Amino acid sequence: MHDDPLKTTASTRLTATTPTPADEVARICAELIRFDTTNRGEGVAHPERPAAEYVAGLLDETGVRPMIVESAPGRASVLARVPGTDPSAPAFLIHGHLDVVPADPAEWTVPPFSGEVRDGCVWGRGAVDMKGSLAMTLATVRRRLREGRRTRGDLVLAFLADEECTGDYGSRYVAREHRAFFEGCTEAISESGGFSVDAGGTRIYPIATGERGTMWMRLTARGTAGHGSKPAPDNAVAELAHAVSRIAAHTWPVRLTSGVRALLDGLADALGTTIDHDRLDAEAARLGGVGRLFTGTIRNSANPTRLDAGYKVNVVPGMATAEVDGRYLPGTGAEFLATVDRLLGPKVTREFINYEEAPVADPAGPTFAALADSLRAEDPLARPVPYVMAGGTDAKAFHDIGITSFGFAPLLLGPELDYLGMFHGVDERVPLDALAFGTRVLDRFLDTR
Ligand SMILES: [Zn+2]
Repeated sequence: MHDDPLKTTASTRLTATTPTPADEVARICAELIRFDTTNRGEGVAHPERPAAEYVAGLLDETGVRPMIVESAPGRASVLARVPGTDPSAPAFLIHGHLDVVPADPAEWTVPPFSGEVRDGCVWGRGAVDMKGSLAMTLATVRRRLREGRRTRGDLVLAFLADEECTGDYGSRYVAREHRAFFEGCTEAISESGGFSVDAGGTRIYPIATGERGTMWMRLTARGTAGHGSKPAPDNAVAELAHAVSRIAAHTWPVRLTSGVRALLDGLADALGTTIDHDRLDAEAARLGGVGRLFTGTIRNSANPTRLDAGYKVNVVPGMATAEVDGRYLPGTGAEFLATVDRLLGPKVTREFINYEEAPVADPAGPTFAALADSLRAEDPLARPVPYVMAGGTDAKAFHDIGITSFGFAPLLLGPELDYLGMFHGVDERVPLDALAFGTRVLDRFLDTR
């Protein structure tokens, strides 16, 4: 794992037919999309192994010795460590995921696993989430190694299975079973940030500095089972329905965390406006596209997502269950649970299906500044701002082993592309120009590591 990547015959062979970075990133993105790595959740997934072998091959060609690790048959992740030039410098991690969410071909303009290039874009499931980002990382690292340019600290790469579920077969597995591989890493970059959002002449680039935490819960109501024709004063189905209804109807109060405050300050500054913190819903609507950067992170949320009870119309079941997707802002976990318990009432119990803390990165530190500088160097109109993600990524698993992730997969996009709408959406696609831009930004950023 500490082989010198510059001493291999493979790297010399590569320089003979050096592709341009723009060609290479597009080719890798398309080829990655052609591996169907659909993750349906709950352990049902197309194995990531073929895609992992492809990624490992690309790294191997540059002389890096990647390691493929499997958490279960076929559920493969790739780990690689490129030695830096200064053993005293901190290692830096870039992580991303190989799996994608399902796609229904009937809804798509092109077959979703075709990786077709059309109208200046690579099309397919994963183009933005996040095989395009993996391609940028791979093309950038390959180019730097071909040119003999290394980071000061070790550069650690992780291409992971199972992000689109809980990460149990990917990030959580490697964080637990291969923790030593991440020795010396304190910071990382990964998905969901660094892309441009058009704001009428200004380009806002949100860089993720945190996520809401996750509390997925199973609710259970118990009552007396019996005949459907008899009085049923403690009907489990009715108790559960009341509790679910109270949760769905609850209006969560605005809770401004430091991360979201930093975004609001950054937006106000970049747009030359003031943002009234007392009427943030109206302000989000006024600000349009950039307003969506905070609508999901000024409150906690709890959405009922599954219901299960009964087996026959004339039988009152003794038990009914529901599942709730709860998300909470950093520092508000206790308040969130107290509210949920009050809404559930005394007859419905809860248990966690998944619990993950809310990770936080520093928007005022040197790494954020270096990420922002790399964007500004490639786009003079760039206005980078910190933001908090409403959902979650593998950053949570790395947070648990002391690694702070920034969401940074840089893309310069035209105003016509609804980038945020394409995550898990139909006709996911990424412009070739944007991929080439991203590799240049990443390359500049890696110069600072
Ligand atoms: Zn993703």
